[in-house]
Amino acid sequence: MVSQLPLHPCTGREAAAAKAAGAVPYAGGTDLMVRRAAARRTGQEPPLVFLDRVATFRGITALDGALRIGSLTTMAELCSHPATPGLLGAACATVGSPALRNAATIGGNICTASPAGDSLPALYALDAEVELCGVDTNRRLPIDRLIIAPGQTALKPDELLAAIIVSTDTADRFYYRKVSPRLANALAKVSLAVAATVHDQVLLEMRIAFGAVGPTVIRCSEIERQCRNRSLADLAQSARRLADLAAETIRPIDDLRSSAAYRRTVAGNLLETCLHSLCAPTT
Ligand SMILES: Cc1cc2nc3c(=O)[nH]c(=O)nc-3n(C[C@H](O)[C@H](O)[C@H](O)COP(=O)(O)OP(=O)(O)OC[C@H]3O[C@@H](n4cnc5c(N)ncnc54)[C@H](O)[C@@H]3O)c2cc1C
Repeated sequence: MVSQLPLHPCTGREAAAAKAAGAVPYAGGTDLMVRRAAARRTGQEPPLVFLDRVATFRGITALDGALRIGSLTTMAELCSHPATPGLLGAACATVGSPALRNAATIGGNICTASPAGDSLPALYALDAEVELCGVDTNRRLPIDRLIIAPGQTALKPDELLAAIIVSTDTADRFYYRKVSPRLANALAKVSLAVAATVHDQVLLEMRIAFGAVGPTVIRCSEIERQCRNRSLADLAQSARRLADLAAETIRPIDDLRSSAAYRRTVAGNLLETCLHSLCAPTT
C-alpha cells in the first residue's frame, strides 16, 4: 500500500519502494505537473513520491576518470559547474528559460524520454551511463539502453534514476546546436551534439547524436566510422557528402513542431556546419 510508505523519503531504496507501490517520482516537477493537470481534473492522480531529500541523488562528484552527476542536479547547476563537460553544459543551457532551469533536473529530462529532450543528444555523444537504484539492487546501463521509445524507459517498476556517469577524458572538441522556433521555452525541431577527439590535425574519434529526428536520439555510427582517423583537411572536403548521409540515416516525422522534410534538410546542414567548424584551425 503506497499510503503506508514515506512519500518524502531520505533514501533511494525507500523512494524506489514508494514507486513500486504506485507513487510517481517528482524531481523538479516541470514536466510532471503539466502532464498531471488532465488527471487532476478527473481526480485520478496517483500520489507523488518527492525525491528532493534523497542525498545520493544529489551533487556532482569526480570519480576516477569520470563524473557522477546526481539525477536531481538542475540544469542551472550543470550550466554553472566547472566540471560539467562543455557539450553537456551547452545543451542544458538551451532548456526552457532561466526560471525553468532552476527547477528542471537532468534526471527528469532523461526519464521523460522525449526525443526532443535537450540533454539526451549530448549524453549519447558522451557515451554516458546511468546508475539505477532499485529496492534491492543497483545497476548501470548505457544511456541508449535506458531510453526505449518516446516516453518509455527501461526502468523497472521499483527503479529510479540515481545518477549519470560521464567520462571526463574523452573528447577535446564539441559542437552543439538546437534549432527551435525561438530561443526560450521551445522544444527542438532538430538538435545535434558532437564530441570529437583531434590530435595533430587528425580526427581520432567522433560521436554524433541527433535529437528530435527519430523515436529516440539517433547516433550515426556509420558516419562516425567514416570520419575516424582522417585528416581535418580531408574531412572538411567530405563534409557535404557526410551531411547527406546523415540526412538519410535519421528518421524524422511530421508533427506539430516541424515537417520531416525540414528536419532532414536542417539535420544535414547542421552536420556540414559542424564538420567545417570542428575542422577549422584552432588558435
Ligand atoms: C515551459 C516549459 C518549457 C520546457 N522547455 C524544455 C526545453 O527547452 N527542453 C527540454 O528538454 N525540456 C523542456 N521542458 C520539459 C521539462 O522541463 C524537462 O524535461 C525537465 O528537465 C524535466 O525535469 P524535472 O526535474 O522537472 O522532471 P519532473 O517533471 O519532476 O519528472 C519528469 C518525469 O520523469 C520522472 N522522473 C523524474 N526524476 C526521476 C528519477 N530520478 N527516477 C525516475 N523517474 C524520474 C517523473 O516521474 C516524470 O515522469 C519544458 C517544460 C516546460 C513546462
